Amino acid sequence: MTNMILPEAIYTHDVPAERPWSHIIRQGQTLRIIDSEGQQAVDALLYCANDPAERYSAQDTLRLQGSAYVGLGTKLVSNKGRVMGHVTADSCGLHDTSAGCCSCESNAVRFGEETKYQHACRENFVLELSKYGMTKRDIVANLNFFMNVPIDPSGNFTVVDGISAPGNYVDITADMDVIFVISNCPQVNNPCNGFNPTPIQVRISDPPLA
Ligand SMILES: [Zn+2]
Repeated sequence: MTNMILPEAIYTHDVPAERPWSHIIRQGQTLRIIDSEGQQAVDALLYCANDPAERYSAQDTLRLQGSAYVGLGTKLVSNKGRVMGHVTADSCGLHDTSAGCCSCESNAVRFGEETKYQHACRENFVLELSKYGMTKRDIVANLNFFMNVPIDPSGNFTVVDGISAPGNYVDITADMDVIFVISNCPQVNNPCNGFNPTPIQVRISDPPLA
């Protein structure tokens, strides 16, 4: 399962800073997300391509694996308890699925009314989900690749400086056909992006030949 040699990507795309992206990842294909310049949080959601009512469940993912973080080997579980994909490579080692995504509303509460009009992940998700006939109601608790959110023994957590270095990557191999949706996080009020949102790269590879 680990360190499999991926065939050359059949699709490569640079996602500009602050922008959303999505693509259908077929069962067996692998999506590689590359933190091109380092310290960039990548918010993500997964939906079953055949029935988007089945979607990523942070709660079931954490419950099933008995760990608070996402890393190599984590199975990404749906609200129907099925495995949607799993992490097959990870050169960063620290990913979150507890802290949610930024929104105009949460920015205003956390950082002041003057931040209310800043573009946020929730708006990116709304834009991207609209391509598949989905709306705000379809946004659920998400993954935050490359986001450093240590949880202390009392259960409190804070977003702190990202540890991912330029070129760090995470591979997710799909266990069903999924709509993979990304918000390349535009947050500038906390350290999740080093206060400077940067581009990421996504690559899709077919399954390795047996
Ligand atoms: Zn964000």
